[in-house]
Amino acid sequence: MMQLPKLTGETAVFGLGRSGLACVASLVAAGNQVVAWDDRAAPHAQAEKLGASVRNLADDFGAPTQLIVSPGVPLTHPAPHPIVAAARELGCAVLGDMDLFSMALEATGLREKATLIGITGTNGKSTATALVCHMLQSAGLPVHMGGNIGTPVLQLPLPEACAQNTLYVLELSSYQLDLNRQLHCDMGVMLNLTPDHLDRHGDMAGYARAKEALFENSKCQTLRVIGTDDAPSRELAQRHPHDRLVSISSTHPQGEIYFADGSLHYGKGVTLDLQNCPALPGAHNGQNAAAALAIGHSLGLSDGVIAHSFQSFHGMAHRLQSVAHHGALNFVNDSKATNAEATRHALAAFDNIYWIAGGVAKAGGISSLKPQFANVRAAFLIGEAADGFAQTLAGEMPVVIAHTMDKALAQAANQAKADALAHATILLSPACASFDQFEDFEARGVAFQAAVTTWVAAQEAGGAA
Ligand code: ADP
Repeated sequence: MMQLPKLTGETAVFGLGRSGLACVASLVAAGNQVVAWDDRAAPHAQAEKLGASVRNLADDFGAPTQLIVSPGVPLTHPAPHPIVAAARELGCAVLGDMDLFSMALEATGLREKATLIGITGTNGKSTATALVCHMLQSAGLPVHMGGNIGTPVLQLPLPEACAQNTLYVLELSSYQLDLNRQLHCDMGVMLNLTPDHLDRHGDMAGYARAKEALFENSKCQTLRVIGTDDAPSRELAQRHPHDRLVSISSTHPQGEIYFADGSLHYGKGVTLDLQNCPALPGAHNGQNAAAALAIGHSLGLSDGVIAHSFQSFHGMAHRLQSVAHHGALNFVNDSKATNAEATRHALAAFDNIYWIAGGVAKAGGISSLKPQFANVRAAFLIGEAADGFAQTLAGEMPVVIAHTMDKALAQAANQAKADALAHATILLSPACASFDQFEDFEARGVAFQAAVTTWVAAQEAGGAA
């Protein structure tokens, strides 16, 4: 656990998910007086057990010196959360767990022993973070991964005072970057920037500003990696010129590292083949791999070590994950595709697609996916977005409103089997948030996999699904 300093006055923690509870534990362990609150009653007992007192901060904010909030708590849009507003009125600092992580490194005098690598972007953060961590582990370097992925940062081990530098690979969402202004990464990656979370950031400019916090105030002096495939990212690269800036691209040879014909190209005609990397299909993964390659080079890793680690990378569940094969049918779980841009890459990666989509639609819907519709044989729609998506898709492809995941999977698989093509992909890539029917994207992916298992078992037993 990270060792925090003793802070002045009372510290309030609002939001008691895994990272909030980790904040409570670290703060209490350092002798801080902690008051905690979550609108859900379930985590209250755990916070008390950790040594915090529980108080409804919305009713009685009190006078804490600092407020630690979960990244999900609105800071500005659509309106500041009343607890954040109360803190600001009192001049109480509003911080996040990454700020506490920075404070812990400083307080222990171990900041110089840590290399912080922050990875952000609209899509690909988790994949790139996991890939970078795997690459560094494969190279035998001491590395920890955390942030928006896996272990809360305050539960990561501190660097060892006598050892070589410890690397921390941190997945950073726009919410975290907006909140954690004290976090100074040594290396920063900005993969891409397309419209998402606009309700929370007000507009595209607000969203870009939040992401940009990764590079502002002379942060990321060792390396800046920026994907230049979209205009907002190109503008951001122009606003933050640096002699250690590496541009990457999944489409244009202008990038210092770019993806083309299944390989990464860099230097003077040097290539790294990604076609033998099963967990990195598609140009979008070319972008993720390009970011990892830039980091690997900056840390002095050889091309051989980097290439080997890309080949042995297992990929991540719910991201273009092939979960079963049955005859000519490939079942692919891309439940993490919660916006149209992520789904665009999935539709581009296959043909003969039987596409399961829907849930809670994002602004703009799926009309931007029209260039990829030719790869789709039929769509099977679920959730709130079904009727709206059916209107967008009318005349483009056969559409079935299936309502639920199990019905959508059975109908898609039965249709694909009846069409008897040489190969076909049953693809869940919803282009939507999941919370109308599922707790989160993981539960949605699990439901897809369960439906696949049921259908395949029925086929193998000789019955109809
Ligand atoms: P994030 O953590 O940013 O949500 P993930 O790695 O979890 O990103 O991937 C989310 C979705 O985006 C998946 O559907 C995945 O296939 C797709 N994706 C992954 N990398 C990229 C990329 N570089 N650009 C666009 N889409 C991507």
